[in-house]
Amino acid sequence: AVAKPSNFLRGIIERDLEAGTYQGRRFAGTPGDAAHHAAGPLDAAKVRTRFPPEPNGYLHVGHAKSICLNFGLARDYGGVCHLRFDDTNPEKEEQEYVDAIKEAVHWLGFDWNAEVGGQTTSHLFYASHYFDFMYRAAEALVTAGLAYVDEQSAEEMRANRGDFTTPGTPSVYRSRTPEENLARLRQMRDGELADGAAVLRAKIDLASPNINLRDPTLYRIKRATHHNTGDRWCIYPMYTYAHPIEDALEQITHSICTLEFEDQRPFYDWLLENLATLGLLAHPLPRQHEFGRLNLSYVVTSKRKLRQLVEEGHVAGWDDPRMPTLFGMRRRGYTPAAIRAMADGSGASKSNIWLDYSVLDGCLRNDLEGQAPRAMAVLDPLKLVLTNWAEVYGSDEHLEPCTAPAHPARPELGERRFMLGKELWIERDDFEMEPPKGFFRLFPPRLLPDGDVTPGNRVRLKYGLVIECTGYEINQHTGEIYNVLARVVPDTRSGTPGADAVKVKGTITWVAAADGVPATLNLYDRLYSEPQPEAGGRDHLTVLNPKSKVVTQGWLEPSLAGAPREARYQFERHGYFISDRIDHSAEAPVFNRITTLRDSWAA
Ligand code: ATP
Ligand code: MG
Ligand code: MG
Repeated sequence: AVAKPSNFLRGIIERDLEAGTYQGRRFAGTPGDAAHHAAGPLDAAKVRTRFPPEPNGYLHVGHAKSICLNFGLARDYGGVCHLRFDDTNPEKEEQEYVDAIKEAVHWLGFDWNAEVGGQTTSHLFYASHYFDFMYRAAEALVTAGLAYVDEQSAEEMRANRGDFTTPGTPSVYRSRTPEENLARLRQMRDGELADGAAVLRAKIDLASPNINLRDPTLYRIKRATHHNTGDRWCIYPMYTYAHPIEDALEQITHSICTLEFEDQRPFYDWLLENLATLGLLAHPLPRQHEFGRLNLSYVVTSKRKLRQLVEEGHVAGWDDPRMPTLFGMRRRGYTPAAIRAMADGSGASKSNIWLDYSVLDGCLRNDLEGQAPRAMAVLDPLKLVLTNWAEVYGSDEHLEPCTAPAHPARPELGERRFMLGKELWIERDDFEMEPPKGFFRLFPPRLLPDGDVTPGNRVRLKYGLVIECTGYEINQHTGEIYNVLARVVPDTRSGTPGADAVKVKGTITWVAAADGVPATLNLYDRLYSEPQPEAGGRDHLTVLNPKSKVVTQGWLEPSLAGAPREARYQFERHGYFISDRIDHSAEAPVFNRITTLRDSWAA
């Protein structure tokens, strides 16, 4: 196993393990209810973490950070990590998202099925399975005088909450007796009150400097069909109430969340301590620990903004290869290992971090360098004609077989085969009519001021031979070059004795017209042109990169003709590409650029 950088969460877990904080856990719920089952075998898993997405959208790279952290800590300390759908908000949640989240977690390389005590157990949970328990807990709080039904309007409630300098004003309903509150709560549950007519609130402290303790809402009335419980409930728990209970019922030890929940921690503890006192939960209780969010430069991760990109058509869908969703990144070609390496490498700290996008690209190149087979491809094709081909090889139709290693450092992967012929495709920018200083690729003979003519430049066709540029053909009307002319320099065939006798400063990649495979190439770049798209409150849509997707019709060497979907290659000189997992086929190949190569090709 790779040594993981230490972080404060590891420190906390190690201290807890040493102190035996979670030894002798027992479950206090009623045997037989869903919550009881949730705890699973208790003793074997020492550390329990959870990844608790709300199934209201697709996972993105920020979630990947949380997944790697939670599943990673559980793995490293011999525990388990739960995948829990925090589905307490019926209107926005859908089965489609549940399925997509499960698929994404698996794709990233994690599993909620874990070996506990020699047995494989599923640790997939739904907050909605605990609605009964949550309701019972609400009644217990009411009975104990720790919660009340408030029937103020939403505006009144807001106005009476006070602010940082003014304490809140008690609602007239705050002094109801527990009996009155219990009766009213049951009416809420039984559908006797209209949506929004009342809420259940905790009775804590209206003067608390922490606004979250000023009698937070626990339940609201909402007639909405839930993806799991259907129309069984017309009241639903608030996230802040539900989440601590979910953690406790599942015997989570370390409830790890992002920093914005720090101010919720006192309520988290208040709730669990009180439920333990009331006999509904047992010590030791879970503890919440906050870490800083991961932000990537050139990326926006708010679900609302991602939705905007999709719905307004700025991208083709949730899995558009430019999207930071895990489905988008997968389609773009990012590997799970690269995403995990980035997430693990970014550690965990007490402040939000901005990571440069190049870190992710670096992780990707590290992962792909050793495994991606090489291939030649021409992204922006220009025809090259070798005018003395028949002279050298006997006929214009002759084809010279060439070979190249599938991977320069891995001979076991074998060889690629392709042909060299009279007509080839080369990159448009590998030719210059008037070469700038330091340009070592193709340029034609030039007339010097003194009347002399310098010969055209010589380059090596990679794995082929040396050629010398003799001229070009241009469309007089458009000014577009359509043919570059060159001649073969004899006895320079790669792999033959003396091939290196002719020295050249440039080597170019190419694909023969005879055996090249036409392909659609999606050249993706960053979605935004600014590293912090929302800096200073700017609307992210104003800094969309107009060149984030450039589509070209290019040529591939024939070894790619049979490429399956989702296969990654390094196109020599150009970068890493993947065959599109949806649009690619042998008849109509489609490749996406994942990222360019670290080093730009020497001119
Ligand atoms: P959004 O705010 O975009 O709606 P969310 O955070 O509300 O996303 P959830 O489904 O509630 O989405 O998130 C599941 C978990 O992922 C939470 O524990 C959340 O803290 C964590 N998470 C989300 N974004 C990031 C991020 N950028 N870095 C680290 N963790 C994150
Ligand atoms: Mg959320
Ligand atoms: Mg959020």
